[in-house]
Amino acid sequence: MKRFNHLTIKQLKELKEKMLAEKERILNAHSVKDEQFLIAKEDQSDDVDLANSDYENSHMLRLRNREIFYVKKLDSALAKFDTEEYGICEDCGAEIKFPRLIARPTAELCINCKEESEMDEMRSLQGRKSKSYSQAVDFSAK
Ligand SMILES: [Zn+2]
Repeated sequence: MKRFNHLTIKQLKELKEKMLAEKERILNAHSVKDEQFLIAKEDQSDDVDLANSDYENSHMLRLRNREIFYVKKLDSALAKFDTEEYGICEDCGAEIKFPRLIARPTAELCINCKEESEMDEMRSLQGRKSKSYSQAVDFSAK
C-alpha cells in the first residue's frame, strides 16, 4: 500500500464499492433498454414510425457509446487498485485528494493539473475566437 498512503483502507473500499455499483447500474440499465428496444421494434410496422425509430436508434447508440466509454474508464480506474496507482495524478504524480475522488471516482488528474488543462482549453478557444474575429475584419475591409 505504499502509494496509497493518502487514502485510508476505508476510503479505498468506499471508492471501489462506488465504482462497482456504478458499473453494475450501467450494465443493468443496458439489458433493460435492450429488451424494451426489441419489443418496440417488433410492434412497429408503420412506415410513419420508421424515421422516429431511426432517430431513437442513433440517439440510443450515442448514449450507449458514452456509457461504454464510462465503463471503460471505471475498469481502468479499478485496475489501478491492483497496481496501487489509483488516486495518483497521471500528469504530475501528485496525490488526488479523497473529496475529489469520491465526487469523481474516475478522475485521472489532480485538481491543479485539471485546472491547467481547462485553462489551456480556454486559451485555445479564445485563440480561435480572436482569429475568426480578425478574419471577419479582413473580410469587411475588402
Ligand atoms: Zn497533477
